[in-house]
Amino acid sequence: MTTNPATMSPMLSQPARPIHLYDLSRAQLRELLAEWGHSDYYAGLVWAGLYRDLAADNEEIEGLRPELHARLAAETQSQPLTVQAAIDSADGHTRKYLLGLRDGQAIETVLMDFRGRATACVSTQVGCAMGCVFCATGQMGFIRHLTPGEIVGQVIHVSRALRARGETLRNIVLMGMGEPLHNYEATMAALDTVMDQRGLAVAPRFITLSTVGVVPGIHRLTDERRPVRLAVSLHGATDAERARLVPPARRWPLAELIDACRRYSETLRRRVFFEWALIDGQNDGPEQAHALGRLLQGLAAHVNLIPLNPTHGYDGRPTEAAAVKAFQSILASYGLPSTVRQRRGIDVAAGCGQLAVEK
Ligand code: SAH
Ligand code: SF4
Repeated sequence: MTTNPATMSPMLSQPARPIHLYDLSRAQLRELLAEWGHSDYYAGLVWAGLYRDLAADNEEIEGLRPELHARLAAETQSQPLTVQAAIDSADGHTRKYLLGLRDGQAIETVLMDFRGRATACVSTQVGCAMGCVFCATGQMGFIRHLTPGEIVGQVIHVSRALRARGETLRNIVLMGMGEPLHNYEATMAALDTVMDQRGLAVAPRFITLSTVGVVPGIHRLTDERRPVRLAVSLHGATDAERARLVPPARRWPLAELIDACRRYSETLRRRVFFEWALIDGQNDGPEQAHALGRLLQGLAAHVNLIPLNPTHGYDGRPTEAAAVKAFQSILASYGLPSTVRQRRGIDVAAGCGQLAVEK
C-alpha cells in the first residue's frame, strides 16, 4: 500500500479519498504507518485497537502518539457501516441488522445466538448475480461487490453487540446476501483479517463459506489451501433439475462441481457440506433423495436440509416434516449424514435466502 500523491489535494495535503482502515491487511497497515514514519510497534497497537478492542474511533486506540492520532483522524476512516435498523425475531435468538453503506446502499447481517454459540451470518455483495429462483437476494439482482472493510465491518458490528453483553462471536457463516466466490479477493482479504490471532481471532474451523457452486472459485480455495468449511448449495442432483432452481448450474455442470468438491476434500482432508432447500413437490421426492445419495457416494459429505423459507418472488412451499424424515432416511441408506437446519428468524425475514433490501 502506498499513498498515491495523485490522490492528494495540493491545498490541504489531505487525501481526496480517505483510507478505509478495515480494508487494509495487517501488512498494508504496517506499510502505511512506516510511510508515515511509525514503527511496526505502532501498527500493532492500531491493529489491536481495531480488532481486539473493537475501537469505534481512532481516539479510542490506546498508546498512540498525538501526531499519529491526528493523522489517522485526517486521512483515514474506519466504521464503513451505519446501523439503520435492528429487528428481533420472536424466536428470541435472532436479530437482523440493516446496515447502511457509504454510497447509500444497504445490506443485511444476522446475529444468531443459540446454545451459547453466537453466529454471524455475513453478506459479501449487495444483491446477487446468480439468480436462484427461490432466493430473495437473487430476486433483487446484482448491485455491487462489498469491499473487504464492509465485510469485516459486519463482523465487528456483531462482535461489539455480543461484547456489550459479555459474549464473544464463535461462528461466521458467509450465507448472507451475495455469492462469496463471485467476490473472491475481497472475501478472502476479509477472512484473513477476522482470523488474525492478534485481533478478532475467529478460528477457521468456525467459518463456513457457502457457495452456489462457482467451480473456479472452489479450485482456487483448494490451491490456496484456505482452511474454511466449504458448503455447496445443490438443490438438485441432475443438471436439468438443478438448473430450474439455480441458473449457474448451466455454466458449471454437476460433474465438474463434484470433481472440484472432491479435490477440495482430498487436498484439505475436509468434509464438504451440501445444502438442499426442500421444496414441496419440486425436489423432495424419493427419486431425488436416491439421486443425491448416488451423486455424493464416496465423498466425505454432510447434507444440510433447509425446508424452503418464503420469499416474495417464488411461490414454492416447504416440505412437510414427514417427507423431510423420509428424505433423510434415504440419504442415510447411502451412508450420507444429514441435518435439518433449524428455522430461525422467519418472522422477520432473517432466514436463509430471505435477505434483501428494498429500495
Ligand atoms: N450465495 C451463497 C450463500 C448465500 S445463500 C449460496 O447460495 O450458497 C445461503 C443458503 O440459503 C444457500 O444454501 C441458499 O441456497 C439457501 N437459500 C436461498 N434461498 C432460500 C430459501 N428461500 N429457503 C431456504 N434456503 C434458501
Ligand atoms: Fe445468490 Fe446464494 Fe441467493 Fe443463489 S442462493 S441468488 S447464489 S445468494
